[in-house]
Amino acid sequence: NHQILLVSRPEGEVEAANFKLVETPLAPLQDGEVRVRNHFLSLDPYMRGRMNESKSYASPQPLNEVMIGATVGRVVESKNTRYQVGDKVAGFFGWQEFGTSDGSALRKLDDTHIPLSAYLGVVGMPGVTAWYGLNRIIVPKAGETLAVSAASGAVGGVVGQLAKAKGCRVIGIAGGADKCRYVVEELGFDACIDYKQDNLHDDLKAAAPKGVDGYFENVGGPVLDAMLARMNAFGRIALCGMIAGYNGQPMPLKSPQLLLVSRLKLEGFIVSEHMEVWPEALAELGGLVAQKRLKYRESVAEGLASAPEAFMGLLKGRNFGKQIVKLV
Ligand code: NDP
Repeated sequence: NHQILLVSRPEGEVEAANFKLVETPLAPLQDGEVRVRNHFLSLDPYMRGRMNESKSYASPQPLNEVMIGATVGRVVESKNTRYQVGDKVAGFFGWQEFGTSDGSALRKLDDTHIPLSAYLGVVGMPGVTAWYGLNRIIVPKAGETLAVSAASGAVGGVVGQLAKAKGCRVIGIAGGADKCRYVVEELGFDACIDYKQDNLHDDLKAAAPKGVDGYFENVGGPVLDAMLARMNAFGRIALCGMIAGYNGQPMPLKSPQLLLVSRLKLEGFIVSEHMEVWPEALAELGGLVAQKRLKYRESVAEGLASAPEAFMGLLKGRNFGKQIVKLV
C-alpha cells in the first residue's frame, strides 16, 4: 500500500520535502472490516491549515502519519455484512492507495448518473459549502447582485450557478483570462473580473454598477478590501475562506469601518459543523448534476506520487476547477 506521510511542517509555502512516499504492507482484514481501493483523492485548501502545529478549529495533522483527505473508491474485500465487493464508497482514508475501515465512516455512492469523482467536489464537501454559505448566510433574493471569489474553483463555481438559478446578477472574481472566460461562457455568470489585472476597484464598479448585495468570500486580502467598498447597505458576506493568507501572510483589513458604515453582516462558517444541512444540500446538488443543470470542472493529477505537487499548485491557483488525484 503506497502512502504519503506528512514528515515536516511547512514554514510559509508548502514544499515537496514536507511529504514522504512510503510503501507499507496491508494487514489481513479482521472481522467487521472493509478494504477499499481508493480511485480518487480530494485535495482541498483546508489541508494547508492542518499542516501547521497550532490548533485552529481542528486538530493538526500528526507528523509521520498518512496525510488526511476525503477519498472515493471501490470495496475490494469485505468482512462486514453491510458492504459487498464492488460497492462504491466515500471515505476519509487520506493520501494512500488502500483504506481499511470498520465500516462506520463509509458512505455508499451511486455512480449511475453521477461520476464517482464528483462526490469529492460538486456533490461533496465543496458543494455543500457553497450551498450553506449561499442559502444560510447570504440568503439571496431575485434581482440582487452577488459576487464570489475563486469563482472557477470547486466552491465558487457552485455558488455562482446556484445564485443564477435564484435570479441574481452574478459576478465572479478569478485569476487570469482563461478562468474568467470559463466562468462567464461555461458557468453562465454575468461577468468575471481578473483580479490579477490590478484594476479591481474600477472593474468591480463597471461589473456591479448597482453595488453588491451578497458576497461569498474565498480568498481575503486585497479582493476583500475592494469588495467591502462596493457592498450595498445591509449586504451579507459569507466568510468561507481566506486562501491568500494560508501560508501565514498577514491579512489586515484596509477599511473595517465599512462594515459599520454599510451596516454589513459578515459571518464565518465551517461546513463540517453544519451536518444537519448535508442531506438536503447533497440531494439538491446531486439532482442538478444528474440533470446536467450544474456544471463543474476538475483538475486531475495522475497517480499518488503527484499529490504533493498538485497540492502546492492548488495553493497557487494552478488548479482549474476541483483538484483531485486519480489513483487508478
Ligand atoms: P478552489 O478549487 O477554488 O482552488 C483554490 C483557488 O484559490 C485557486 O484556484 C486560486 O484561484 C485561488 N487562490 C489561491 N491563492 C490565491 C490568492 N493568493 N489570492 C486569491 N486567490 C487565490 O478551492 P475550493 O473551492 O476547494 O476552496 C475555495 C475556498 O473555500 C478556500 O478558501 C477554502 O479554504 C474554502 N473552504 C471553506 C470551507 C468551510 O467550511 N469554511 C469548506 C471548503 C472550502 P485563482 O486562480 O482564481 O486565484
